[in-house]
Amino acid sequence: MVEYHLAKVEIGVRFPVTAFMKNEMIKKRILTGDRPTGPLHLGHYIGSLENRVKLQREYETYILIADMQALTDNADNPEKVRKNILEVAFDYLAAGLDPKICTIVIQSLVPELAELTMYYLNLVTLSRLQRNPTVKGEMQEKGYGANVPAGFLMYPVSQAAHITAFKANLVPVGEDQLPMIEQTVEIVRSFNRIYKPVLVEPKALTSKITRLPGTDGRAKMSKSLNNAIYLSDSSAVVAKKVMEMFTDPGHIHAEDPGKVEGNPVFAYLDAFDQDVKKVDELKKQYQKGGLGDVEVKKILIEVLNNFLNPIRKRRAEFAEKPEQVMRILKEGTEKGRKVATQTLKEVRQAMHLDYF
Ligand code: ATP
Ligand code: MG
Repeated sequence: MVEYHLAKVEIGVRFPVTAFMKNEMIKKRILTGDRPTGPLHLGHYIGSLENRVKLQREYETYILIADMQALTDNADNPEKVRKNILEVAFDYLAAGLDPKICTIVIQSLVPELAELTMYYLNLVTLSRLQRNPTVKGEMQEKGYGANVPAGFLMYPVSQAAHITAFKANLVPVGEDQLPMIEQTVEIVRSFNRIYKPVLVEPKALTSKITRLPGTDGRAKMSKSLNNAIYLSDSSAVVAKKVMEMFTDPGHIHAEDPGKVEGNPVFAYLDAFDQDVKKVDELKKQYQKGGLGDVEVKKILIEVLNNFLNPIRKRRAEFAEKPEQVMRILKEGTEKGRKVATQTLKEVRQAMHLDYF
């Protein structure tokens, strides 16, 4: 879009540049996304989705449903990936992404992204791929060792292709994605130096809470770790998950002093309770002794259900109209593909691959 308006101005067409156009001209871009490996959870919301919703008016926003990336560790389960495309889309719309102003794109339907990934793979070494700390950790979790699918090992390169194909300036993500942005910047610099300065260096945007822990107390809430509270969970499910949540194992009786650090109940209160003063009081009471786990969990259940209620309501409305949501994805993908196609044209020119 930015190039489109600039081009109009450059060739000096005979209509005035309106305030709207000026605004459009300076709009920077966002690209981020999610793997359709399951519905979205509280970690996605707090780590990235909330920022996307906040910034969608200010930035030209592209959201990628990364189905090919989901297949890198789900090659034997394409049905799971397919099914979750809609689940993720329902979550986006329910959380407040507005398809009139932001563009939701399905990765596999933009083959230019795969092409760009192939070019970038020549700019990255195997040892660099193996050093990526997030991939390293995920490989350990999955027990891959040397039998890691090649597509999985190189998924940060495909992410670099996504970000740069959309010439994104900003990438709202959780902490686990920071090494990917770092690797993207390296690729951009190599490409621009070797070929031509076509690509834009992106910046990561993290939120106040960069990594929400899991209900089991593990460092990251994640679809694959079975420790998530989903945006689509019913209030009864939320209550059950919270009641079974990990807390301070040393806090056995309500009178005992308890630990707030590493206690996900308080991490969730920090993330979702607007009443900071009340949360501080609760923490003090818990640390001193005299506040039971059940009591504080009941407070958390109410906070989470109050937060999730409007999301659930909107989600149910969209889930009743899957055809309409599929249309949003189709239109978004078509629009997104145009942007990627334009970048690839410039990339091929820069790489001397523009033969005819
Ligand atoms: P999977 O387990 O399948 O990898 P995931 O839960 O890690 O799923 P992704 O689709 O890989 O989710 O991540 C999408 C986005 O959400 C990324 O920007 C990621 O940083 C962010 N995110 C995911 N989990 C959390 C979390 N617990 N806290 C903060 N941000 C998160
Ligand atoms: Mg992940």
